[in-house]
This record gives sequence, structure tokens and C-alpha cells, in this order.
Amino acid sequence: GRRLVPRAILSVYDKTGLLDLAKGLIKQNVRLLASGGTAKLIREAGFQVEDVSAITKAPEMLAGRVKTLHPAVHAGILARDLASDEKDLAEQNINKVDYVICNLYPFKDTVAKINVTVAEAVEEIDIGGVTLIRAAAKNHGRVTVLSDPEDYHDFLQELEKGEVTCKSRQLHALKAFSHTADYDTAIADFFRKKYAGDGVQQLTLRYGTNPHQKPASAFMTDQKLPFKVLNGSPGYINLLDSLNAWPLVKELSDALGFPAAASFKHVSPAGAAIGVPLNDVEKKVYMVEDIEGLESSGLAQAYARARGADRMSSFGDIIALSHECDIPTAKIIGKEVSDGVIAPSYHPEALQILRKKKAGKYLVLQMDPSYSPPAQESRTSYGITLTQHRNDALITPHNSFTSIIVPKDSPTLPDSALRDLTVATIALKFTQSNSVCYALNGQVIGLGAGQQSRIHCTRLAGDKADNWWMRFHSRALAVKWRKGAKRADKSNAIDMLCSGIVPESGPEREEWEGNFEVVPSPFTSEERREWLGRLSEVAVSSDAFFPFTDNVFRVARSGVKYLAAPTGSQNDGACFETAAGLGVTFVEQHVRLFHH
Ligand code: 5GP
Repeated sequence: GRRLVPRAILSVYDKTGLLDLAKGLIKQNVRLLASGGTAKLIREAGFQVEDVSAITKAPEMLAGRVKTLHPAVHAGILARDLASDEKDLAEQNINKVDYVICNLYPFKDTVAKINVTVAEAVEEIDIGGVTLIRAAAKNHGRVTVLSDPEDYHDFLQELEKGEVTCKSRQLHALKAFSHTADYDTAIADFFRKKYAGDGVQQLTLRYGTNPHQKPASAFMTDQKLPFKVLNGSPGYINLLDSLNAWPLVKELSDALGFPAAASFKHVSPAGAAIGVPLNDVEKKVYMVEDIEGLESSGLAQAYARARGADRMSSFGDIIALSHECDIPTAKIIGKEVSDGVIAPSYHPEALQILRKKKAGKYLVLQMDPSYSPPAQESRTSYGITLTQHRNDALITPHNSFTSIIVPKDSPTLPDSALRDLTVATIALKFTQSNSVCYALNGQVIGLGAGQQSRIHCTRLAGDKADNWWMRFHSRALAVKWRKGAKRADKSNAIDMLCSGIVPESGPEREEWEGNFEVVPSPFTSEERREWLGRLSEVAVSSDAFFPFTDNVFRVARSGVKYLAAPTGSQNDGACFETAAGLGVTFVEQHVRLFHH
């Protein structure tokens, strides 16, 4: 085709570096075309420039809304080096454009201003600029697009050497597409906030992880949020807890066919359970003896168990319920210090009970149980976006625990062991790693979360399981509380007693004694040994392999009979042998379940 002088179209909002660029282009005999303000500045600096309107033969109109939107511009940019394209151009007397220099109206800066109106924001939505950039980026096989003044210098250097390389055009096109994508994201964010309504597709959060981290929000770009706020106003950690606790109870209930509940704190479960019926002692230990209708609610019994696993850690929890929150469950929640609950629905009277909590501020979320998250998930850390396939590995009692390594001649596991291994393993799937979980009777009894070493996790969880079991000791059950002792104070006092950490004297001892009508004497080591020796049939699961045998020795001391863990450690063989020697069944659970 005929090779005329190269042409550049310039239309920039940010005029940084514009004059140096114009000068450099002219030096290379490039003919400049520019939109109103851009042309004016170049011309006033004494450089040769034509108005875009000279080639479009149409004036800028609608107060600048239409400046460069014209076939004379866009056919010039989009034409390929094809005979048919050349012919079209020739017929319309249009010249090819080789360089497009454009950056956009500052939409982000405008909407960042407080109280900006929709009308003000609308005027900052760049139309022609985006079109110029997209057209040039699309045709980067031939055209160079500069959307960032930072790139002018290197571009001119390349031009002086001869031609802009294919690689450079590709990188400029990539930047251009990213620029327009970012721009459209900002526009969509603005209108989502304005038009979708708070709580529909996006939710303004009170604050982020800490109170000074403002503003904070949660949103979805492609659909409505799958939950509704029925009461209260969630914070950032409340939502993280809810969105981990909900899938936990959903999976647990689906896997075992029981109602399930979880009690979350700091994005790990303090307890999780299915609704295995409670006996009288359990009702007493879990402080639910007086709950009307408890017997007939599997969900209430599930929450009593979840809350009862580690009552101290559950103080101020976020609760997840797999089924409609009924009245007995709401009555238990009504008595406990808690921050919020997520459930698929609420009995009207249950909702009334919950609305009264925390002076009316109790968080109540209603989750759409049919919601299924996308396979791919992403987050940012320190400004960098990380993406991965969601952890959608399914843990089920009949598929996850079939590879029994020791004892060698073991038949399949009893149903109770399969149930408890399932509870422990699904709990780990939603626990900050490293994590180890002990379970019994369909509930977590000790969970260690977020420890950097596995043995510390195993010990922490084991000590919690021991503490849980000590609460069933006849002397712990017989404790006489002072009149008016609060539930939380009772939980703390019994925790000290059962952990064996009551000081011999001093103000802490006095404060502790103040909780009782009759002060219990601390457990002797003989009493502890005797009672802990009676804990048996416990299941334990680990989110990754055991690197050393110490973990196996430790779990066996807390009544563990069934152990599920991934393998792959150099010490696998030694761990299997240790388990065999201690009479512990070692099951390979094939999926590593780190969670962060
Ligand atoms: P100038 O200062 O040259 O008058 O305008 C430059 C700005 O206008 C650039 O930010 C560019 O993206 C934008 N622009 C270019 N063509 C059009 C158009 O046809 N309509 C609108 N709304 N903006 C345009």
C-alpha cells in the first residue's frame, strides 16, 4: 500500500510529558492530530498539530461528549495491512493511524470525593478515550498505543532507532487493556454502591480487621450477595467467620445426615458438632439442662455440643447452623455471650429472641443454602492478587477413611469412628493451619489452630481434649457456684480447675475462689491421671502429615483410638509403628487440608 507520513492521534487528560512527546514525534516526521484541549496545548507550545475535527469534518460536540468518535479516526486505527482494508480506506479517503496516545478522564479521583453526585460522576466517564485505547490495543499488530506518560521516553528512544518493536507494541497493548479494565471496574464499583442498594450486591462493613481500617466492604461483581443481614451490622472478621463456618456446617450436615453447628472465633472453629442426642451429664456440662424443647431439636443439641467443646474460646463467637434456627437453639444462644449467627432461615420466635441480644445489635445473617461459590477464588495480599482453585475436596465417612495402614489386618472402622473422623477432618478443612482436631460423640473435643509447629498443635488440641474430659469428672460436676455467678465466669473458673492451673495463693486464687459457694480443691495429679485414663475411643485428624513420632505418642495419651492423617513424611514408617505399638488405628486421609 501507499506509505504516507506516519500519523499519531493524541487525546490526553493527563498532559504530563505531552510537549516532549510532541516534539519527539515531530522530529521523526510524524504528523500529529489531537483533540481540543490536547491540540491547543501543543499548538501554543509552537508545534505543528491538526485538530481531529479537521479529518472527521465534524466539530467536537455535546460539550466534549463526542470528540474523536468517528469512522475517519477509528477506521484509521483499526485498518490492517490487507488489500481489502486499504481499498475501504482509499474509498473513504481515510489515512492509517500508527500511534495512539491517550489517557482517560479521572473517574477514580472524582468519585473519591465526598458526596459526589451521580451527574458529576457520569461526566467523568470517558467514552471516546476508551474507544481510542481499545481500538489501538486491538490492532497492536500494527499500531502502538501509549496510555501511560511514563512510557513516552522509552517509546521515543525506540522510534529514534527506527521502529517500535512487536514486543513493545504487545506490552503497550497489555497495559492499555489493563487500564480500561481498571477504569470500568471503578465505574462499576461506583454504580454498584449507588444503585444496587446496601446489602444487596454489596455491603458496607463497620470496619476492616481493626477499627482504624476504614472504609471496608464486601461485594460480588456478578450476582447478588448470597446472604441477607436480618439484624445488626457485620464487621470484616464477622464475615470471615461466617463464610468459613457456614460451609463447615453445610458439609458436615451433608456428610453425616444430621443437623450441624459450629462456633467460630478468629476464623477457626472453637467447636463443631452434629446433633447426636445429649445425655444428662452432657447437658449439665454444656449448661443446657434448663433449655425447653432441647430433646426434640437435633440442631440445639448440635450447638450445645459445639459451644461445649471449648466454652472459654467460644466466648463472643460467630455461630453457624446447618438448618433453620429453631426456638430451643435460639434459647441457648440467648444465654451465651455471642457476636452473631448465620443460618439458612429462622423461626419467627427464634428471630425475636436473637434480635434482643446485645442491646439489639446481635448479628443475624440469613444464608442462601443453594449458593455455590465459583471454582476459582482470589484475594490480594500486600497488593498482589493470588488465585487458586477453591478447596472443594469432599470429605465423607465412607470414602475418606478407607486406607487403614495399621493394624494390618484391620476390618473397616466402626460407624462411630467414621463419624468422629469426619467431624474432625471437616472441622480442619476450615481451621487456620497447622491444625489438629480430636473428636468424640459427633463433636470436636479439642482443636489446635494456627500453630507453626505440628507438635504444638497436637499438644494444644490434646490439652483442650483433656480439659474437656476433666469437666466430666464427678468433682467438677459437683461444683457449687456462688449465687449470681455469670456463665462466662463459670466457664473461666472451671477451665482453670480442669486445666490444673489454679495458683496456690495470692489475688488470682482469691478471685477464682470468689466464684464458688464451696471452693473445690484442685485436682491432684493422681485424680487427673486416673480420670484421663478413662478417656477412650477418641478420633483425631491432622491437616497434614506427622513429621515426627512425638505427635502419635501425644494423641495416644488423650484416649485416641483412631488417627487420620495424610502421609508423605520421611518418618511415616516410624509413625505407623508407633501407632501400632500404642494400639492406635492409623488411617491415611489422602487430601492435605491446609487452610489460610
Ligand atoms: P482534550 O483535553 O484533548 O480536549 O480531551 C482529552 C480527553 O478526552 C482524553 O481523556 C480522552 O480520553 C477524551 N476523549 C477523546 N475522545 C473523546 C470522545 O469522543 N468523547 C469523550 N467523552 N471523551 C473523549
